[in-house]
Amino acid sequence: MNRQALDELKQQIPLMGYLQAHDWSPARPLSGGRWMGLCPLHEDHKPSFLVDTNKDLFYCYGCGRGGDVIRFAELYHQVKFPQAVAWLRQWRGAEPLLQEAARFYRIQLHRHSEAVAYLYQRGIRSQALIEHMGIGYAPGGCLRGWLTQLGHSLSALRQAGLVTGVGYDAYVQRIVFPLEGNIYGRSLSPAAPPHRFLPGSKGGLYAWKQAQSHPEVILVEGLFDYAVLWEAGFHNATCSLGTHLNAHQLRQLCDGPRTVHIAFDADGNGSGQRAAQCLSRSLQERGITARVVSLPEDHDPNSFFVQGGDARQFQSLLEEAQ
Ligand SMILES: [Zn+2]
Repeated sequence: MNRQALDELKQQIPLMGYLQAHDWSPARPLSGGRWMGLCPLHEDHKPSFLVDTNKDLFYCYGCGRGGDVIRFAELYHQVKFPQAVAWLRQWRGAEPLLQEAARFYRIQLHRHSEAVAYLYQRGIRSQALIEHMGIGYAPGGCLRGWLTQLGHSLSALRQAGLVTGVGYDAYVQRIVFPLEGNIYGRSLSPAAPPHRFLPGSKGGLYAWKQAQSHPEVILVEGLFDYAVLWEAGFHNATCSLGTHLNAHQLRQLCDGPRTVHIAFDADGNGSGQRAAQCLSRSLQERGITARVVSLPEDHDPNSFFVQGGDARQFQSLLEEAQ
């Protein structure tokens, strides 16, 4: 990539926008379009991270690192310069497309009673919850037409993974949840693999911005678990989209002093509980208090609530957690 293409890339991704999309928020303004906030690159307790929105540069007085959005992506994602550039190019291209797709899926939801019925059966019943999570439905066979009509090229759709190599919608009969830089799809059909993501990173912890400020957070495996907890009033919940946390998610959990209640599935083969124990140890090593929540056998937080458990009962499980 030549100098000019790099400058163009940087112009199209303002540093502040990129930071905010990665859960950073400024703590206080300084003069001349400059802002201070907590450093997302090291464990920071008082704001030492300076962002200059006019020059599109950052500098941290704590860890002494600074630079432009590419430098930030290198440090934040722990990759080398060429990968950081590739990452940013992909992010620039995919973001508007994914937002458009998610909007289309939201419109489809209420046109398909089977989708609404499925949500109901999984405990997602209020419109407020559906809107909070931006839940939609991918019937299949019509996203491609909609997006190309809006001017998106077929190759861009393929690259984002929304359309298969031969040109069909990738998500068919799936409940969809928009994520940071991705879309998760849960199949309604037992014939298809239940869980799918678009290619690329699954992003950070789900709804981390809301959970982050709580001294105690609840970490669950799946979005349906997150949904019932939110509905029951546990707005300090977050979701790792699987039992394996990526480096970014782990860093988020450890970005300040807090207690993490790990409420993974209590499946018969014990894999959820083993993953929870293992995560608990690695959080403790990083100075974070972690407790593993024991759900009744064969339950996950979703089935616990769907089968009649209530907020008070779940609260006592949290209090009993080791
Ligand atoms: Zn720093």
